[in-house]
Amino acid sequence: MTNAAAPVWNHAASTPDRIALRGEEGEEWTYGRLRERAAAVAGRLGEQGVGPGDRVLLVAPSVPEFAFAYYGILAAGAIAVTANTMAPHRELAYIAGDAEVSLVLGWHAITPAPKQAADELSLPYWELRPGLAETGPAEACAILDAHPREDDDTAALLYTSGTTGRPKGSQLTHGNLNACAAVFCDVHAITGDDCAVTGLPLFHVFGQACVMATTMRAGGSLTLLERFHPSTMLAMIRRDHPTFIAGVPTMWNALLRTADDTGADFTGLRLASSGGASLPVEVMRAFEERFGCTIVEGYGLTETTGAATCHLAGRPAKPGHVGRALPGCAVSVRDDDGHELPPGQVGEVHIKGPIVMKGYWNRPDATAEALRDGWLRTGDLGATDDDGDLRIVDRKKDLVIRGGYNVYPREVEEVLYEHPDIVEAAVIGVPDEFYGEEVAAVIAVRPGARLDVSELRAWAKERLSAYKVPHLVAVVDELPKGATGKILKRAIDPALLKADA
Ligand code: ATP
Repeated sequence: MTNAAAPVWNHAASTPDRIALRGEEGEEWTYGRLRERAAAVAGRLGEQGVGPGDRVLLVAPSVPEFAFAYYGILAAGAIAVTANTMAPHRELAYIAGDAEVSLVLGWHAITPAPKQAADELSLPYWELRPGLAETGPAEACAILDAHPREDDDTAALLYTSGTTGRPKGSQLTHGNLNACAAVFCDVHAITGDDCAVTGLPLFHVFGQACVMATTMRAGGSLTLLERFHPSTMLAMIRRDHPTFIAGVPTMWNALLRTADDTGADFTGLRLASSGGASLPVEVMRAFEERFGCTIVEGYGLTETTGAATCHLAGRPAKPGHVGRALPGCAVSVRDDDGHELPPGQVGEVHIKGPIVMKGYWNRPDATAEALRDGWLRTGDLGATDDDGDLRIVDRKKDLVIRGGYNVYPREVEEVLYEHPDIVEAAVIGVPDEFYGEEVAAVIAVRPGARLDVSELRAWAKERLSAYKVPHLVAVVDELPKGATGKILKRAIDPALLKADA
């Protein structure tokens, strides 16, 4: 059985009373009840005429009902188009139109945007509410068998934010999702005894594939935070004693900055999986010191169904590196002509393997550009070392070229994070008449800290070559963040960086 919903059905058959999902309020859903709810959604979709290959837009935060709807869509043989709960209705209407969805499902307690998008396109709209309707177990068993799926059939469509042109829908197949879950279970030895807690959004690949699909495959339990907040995360850790947590670097940073009055006990925690953005070495060290758990960093994209590399068990984690290709996958660093580069040389990271997407939805041009001979061009610059471990240098498009010299923002950010008063940092290039581009930093400082910009520059100059020192510096309360909590450089207002020269 290749349907990515099969693990839920299998555990529901063998261990129906095992806990699959927990919500913030402490509500628990067994595998048996998860399958019933998902089957109810699948049944209703069938009544609505939604069948194999049809697309359904799902806009919901990380609540158990997201999983009911998601697995229901998959069980019906349809494709789950999962979108950001914060997206304005225009963006959702674009996605719904592009994916030609048959129906929109929106969580009752978010913005009216999903309903507005459905109305604009005259599509049926279902409001998702806590619990959802039930069907009997006998009916639930049959549904999955009615819609067998092949490995190459698309299961989910996840739109990338589209920094270059219109958003593109990455087609993740049942085979991709199963491969991601299988390899994650294997590499991190995740079993039915594991309990995961995450504040990641399930509409994004990290939460959806690396955390939800993985935990469901293992038969473990998953605690969902509707929205990440460090105090809630600590409270959930205290309540559910996870063995596994997953997040992006800004979440680890936020946990570190939060005084824990919940008495959260981290002793059972054996894995903190980080991805989505580079993990500053300082944050990694501080987290391990305070919580006593090593962060295992992985690297990947929506287009690779989440992680494509990570630190493998038994090998010491190298700070600043993202490990090796996961089993069954391959990483190759290439120059602009597509020739593989030797270790130590920086080039574009290419990835191959069963986790690489099928292509972009309805975009043969963009697919041909991204996928060549099965290799995905990631748009990230990196280098391997002699041991084969990959270091991500930066996104190709984020590279700053100042007066002909390459400045990798990440290197400058790493240095800024060493400053005792800086809690968040983003380095970008801004147009400059003389140098072409100038290095600029937007930073957030610890509450109560007063940072003198010229002193900061002098401090940075002791640690960086002069051309890499941020010339323009803006101090803000908080940096803009994307769906997963990643710092969103493209949302930084360039006007912030004009005044300080
Ligand atoms: P866009 O939609 O603009 O392409 P995104 O951030 O929304 O960007 P994702 O697929 O969520 O798209 O993120 C993939 C990118 O995140 C990678 O291409 C890489 O730049 C970055 N990334 C992920 N993990 C890491 C890591 N461990 N270290 C450095 N960068 C990482």
